[in-house]
Amino acid sequence: MKIGFIGLGNMGGPMAANLVKAGHAVTGFDLTAPMPEGVTRAATAAEAATDAEVVITMLPNGAILRSVAAEVIPAMTAGAVLCDCSTVDVDSARAVADQAQAAGLGALDAPVSGGVGGATNGTLTFMAGGADAAFATVKPLFDIMGQKAVHCGASGAGQAAKICNNMILGVTMIATCEAFALADKLGLDRQKMFDVVSTSSGYSWTMNAYCPAPGVGPASPADNGYKPGFAAELMLKDLNLSQQAAVSADADTPMGQLAAELYRRFVEDEAGRGMDFSAMLPRFERRGRA
Ligand code: NAD
Repeated sequence: MKIGFIGLGNMGGPMAANLVKAGHAVTGFDLTAPMPEGVTRAATAAEAATDAEVVITMLPNGAILRSVAAEVIPAMTAGAVLCDCSTVDVDSARAVADQAQAAGLGALDAPVSGGVGGATNGTLTFMAGGADAAFATVKPLFDIMGQKAVHCGASGAGQAAKICNNMILGVTMIATCEAFALADKLGLDRQKMFDVVSTSSGYSWTMNAYCPAPGVGPASPADNGYKPGFAAELMLKDLNLSQQAAVSADADTPMGQLAAELYRRFVEDEAGRGMDFSAMLPRFERRGRA
């Protein structure tokens, strides 16, 4: 397939590399990032999109997605599919899909879960919103870049699934970390805490698979000085997107709101930027109630 790929950073670079390895012809454009081996560099985003059957974008945020989409949509051939894999706000995802469809293109929002490791190993999970035909066109590419692709519904449904999942993740990580910090102050051994909770009703992905306590549970960023993994500022981005969506949809999300505020303080005021999002545990450890 002829593929245009725009945004070849930490995630997009390895995703494009996997498409090349599978035999696809990939033309890429990025403002700064180098092209992975086998990706042809285009001079502009529009050039990368010209004649492509599928254009994939992997960009930092909704404003950048909107400006890139305004440039590439007129350059694309009718019937081609614009597939955005970035994590962006639901409103931007829907606006870009509307523009693409008005131009006779297919459109998908297909954010991913799995991080840089998943992008490199081709084991991402894609959650897609858009029409059946567009999903069917891109599905073989999802199968190369990932291990699972869920068609969640109409445009915006992929982003909705992503931010709801990550709102649960952020809230659960905070709950797990504050419980460990309380257990410490009650004199409970961390390994015993893990042994009980991981097999009791408090279990969760954050406890069982990504334990924030060093030396306890399976290997996780906590065992590596809290080097990310999934950086606290990316969690903050996703929590802010969930709150933006909650305001827009008039949904009551008090725990998500508090999680966003705690990660905002952690990233902006408490030296959490550049740390894994599980570094909330040492943050709680250092604090008392005040
Ligand atoms: P990144 O900053 O490494 O990559 C983004 C790339 O976009 C950069 O190389 C940048 O130069 C390029 N770019 C910016 N503006 C551009 C423009 N106008 N035209 C062309 N290229 C442009 O970020 P990333 O970690 O690869 O994340 C990309 C997206 O994936 C984000 O939306 C992020 O939230 C999401 N995501 C990231 C992770 C992760 O673990 N890193 C996990 C899941 C989802």
